[in-house]
Amino acid sequence: MFLRPPTDIISSSVALCEAVMHMRGDFLAEELGRLARNLLGSPFGSYVAQDSLGGAADADAGELIPTNLEGLVQDIVCNGQHYGRYAVWGRPIYDAGDRQHLASLATLTANLLQMHMLALRTTHAYADIERQLSHQTQILDQINESVLTMDQTGYITSWNTGAERLFGYTALEAVGRSILFLYVDEDTAFHDAFMEQGGQVMEVRRRKKSGDIFWASMSLAPLKDVHGRPAGLIAYLSDITERKRTEEKLHELAYRDALTSLPNRALLTKLLDQSMAVAQRNEANGCVLFIDLNRFKPINNALGRRIGDELLRQVAQRFRAALREQDVVARLSGDEFAVGLFDLHQHFEATTVARKLQAALVEPFMIEGHHLRVGASIGISVYPQDGADAETLLRLADIAMARAKQGGSGDDESVAFYSREMNQDMQERMRLESDLRHALQNGELLLHYQPKFEIGSNSMVGAEALVRWLHPQRGLIAPADFIPLAESTGLIVQLGEWVLEEACTQAAQWMRAGLPPFRLAVNVSAREFSPSLPSRVAATLDRHGLAPCWLELEITESTLMRDIERVIDIMDQITALGVTLSLDDFGTGYSSLSYLKRFPIDTLKIDRSFTTGIPEDGNDCAIASTIISIGQQLGHRVIAEGVETAEQLEFLRGAGCDEVQGYLFSKPLAALPFEQALRESWLPER
Ligand code: C2E
Ligand code: MG
Ligand code: MG
Repeated sequence: MFLRPPTDIISSSVALCEAVMHMRGDFLAEELGRLARNLLGSPFGSYVAQDSLGGAADADAGELIPTNLEGLVQDIVCNGQHYGRYAVWGRPIYDAGDRQHLASLATLTANLLQMHMLALRTTHAYADIERQLSHQTQILDQINESVLTMDQTGYITSWNTGAERLFGYTALEAVGRSILFLYVDEDTAFHDAFMEQGGQVMEVRRRKKSGDIFWASMSLAPLKDVHGRPAGLIAYLSDITERKRTEEKLHELAYRDALTSLPNRALLTKLLDQSMAVAQRNEANGCVLFIDLNRFKPINNALGRRIGDELLRQVAQRFRAALREQDVVARLSGDEFAVGLFDLHQHFEATTVARKLQAALVEPFMIEGHHLRVGASIGISVYPQDGADAETLLRLADIAMARAKQGGSGDDESVAFYSREMNQDMQERMRLESDLRHALQNGELLLHYQPKFEIGSNSMVGAEALVRWLHPQRGLIAPADFIPLAESTGLIVQLGEWVLEEACTQAAQWMRAGLPPFRLAVNVSAREFSPSLPSRVAATLDRHGLAPCWLELEITESTLMRDIERVIDIMDQITALGVTLSLDDFGTGYSSLSYLKRFPIDTLKIDRSFTTGIPEDGNDCAIASTIISIGQQLGHRVIAEGVETAEQLEFLRGAGCDEVQGYLFSKPLAALPFEQALRESWLPER
């Protein structure tokens, strides 16, 4: 047997590895043949690759080894896969050891060739994938659209060149951030619904890196993982700002008056119909004002169109400025305008607005050196009484406007409702309003006083000042008939000032007359409850040399429903003066109990509507008892107003009420009879 040293075997193996890794084709075949020859010390030997064997896979050794020579043949096989054949020959003899060596070489060769092939295949596969990925990225980057993907929580997972161009952020800056950083403030909610639905096309506003906001058309498609489970979203976006702009321009042309930029008739009709749908749901009132300018036509004819146009533009500006943002003002044609008001509590509020519009025209217009004066005749139709669609309301308001113009005969102040009743109503109110203005100046107002009694001690502890109007023709008018009017016209502020002044004057007289001090309560309405009130109260007390223990202010729950913090601040300033506060008509408003404990209130006044039902009406009894216990819990005194019967008094006494006021004790009285009754029977016995 031919003996080979181990280093020889090792170096053969290393050489074999090298050959398989680095050589191909004939070179490889040549090297493998050489290795076989070396390993077996044969004069001849070769390797034949499987493809060169062709159909001769099972050809016998005779075909490789000359017939007259000794030799060995060995197939190179691994896991049933054939990789060719080794043949060696030319030695005088080959034994079992040689066969064994050649077999080992063949096994090693087969294993190496197989591994190498697998490695090659994988490398090709990777190269393929890389190529495909690169193609796809190129395609994605070539298209103009911006394409981005995000995971299920809205974090960006990929970002193409289109997205870089559109948003101005590079992929490096965008990937990994929440999609919300592209949103415009108003719509930062990430909609979960997108996750499930996908495939939607929508128009959205987004923000660029530069801060610019643009319109984009966006469609979303669900992104799935290899198992088909939702993994996120693909978003396709394209800039549609240009299209939006064109649409807006078209909209402007169709719905705006070119001269004044106000909505035109078509847009007004749309907006009115929309507002009415909302008003219907909220059971609210609304109205349409039809405005026709007085003296516009002669100006236009005399001074020409250019000046006429400028005048209309300025009128439009003044109207717009006189109205609140939610009110709609439109130009219908020529010198006709219309206004829609849809959050009215009562129809007569429309007259206040009509007057405002007329007042806006009082100041003359200065155009190209001309002093121009125009007025307005205004007709009003009311939703839902007169009609429930824009066309009808406009038509009826137009009719009312014509009536206003006739009736007014050149008067700039002419306003008319379409409905005759409302017209009468309005005229009545207008008369009353102008009378009330005079009443304030002519001293037609006076105060009546109604005592308040403490139940426990049976003594008079205070009085409420209640305003009365002694009208020269109509006689005595109750506050219910003029306080709401004073509130809606703003006259309440002057009226309130008068009442406070008068009450303090009277209290000072009683003080000087030697009467023991008692709290004189003055009603203050919500409009009066302004930051200037505390200093006005302080100054009034000062002027009359009155101690603050003489004064109390009654405020209603509606006052508290305004800006709470501001109200509390004003209240604190008043109580700091030593003047007490009571909460009038308690139970009729919607005071939040959690706020109630923060108000520095001395007394809760149970509204007369609850006292009336006592003791027959179980609900009224329950409400009165509840108010009393709330007052006790919060450390406030409780007074019941409108007590007319002994039964009511008994119930209230039993429930723990502190004070009472009502006809059972006394009606409100003029100052003199009040003072008399006070001296004769209400003062505690000395
Ligand atoms: P109020 O402040 O709740 O006044 C109580 C009203 O109940 C008064 O009506 C009073 O005359 C009436 N009254 C008192 N006891 C009885 C009774 O036993 N039975 C019946 N049926 N009525 C009783 P008045 O004087 O007509 O005043 C009505 C409302 O007008 C007042 O309600 C108050 O909110 C307001 N008011 C009166 N004077 C003024 C004022 O000077 N300024 C302001 N802002 N509002 C005032
Ligand atoms: Mg009161
Ligand atoms: Mg009351």
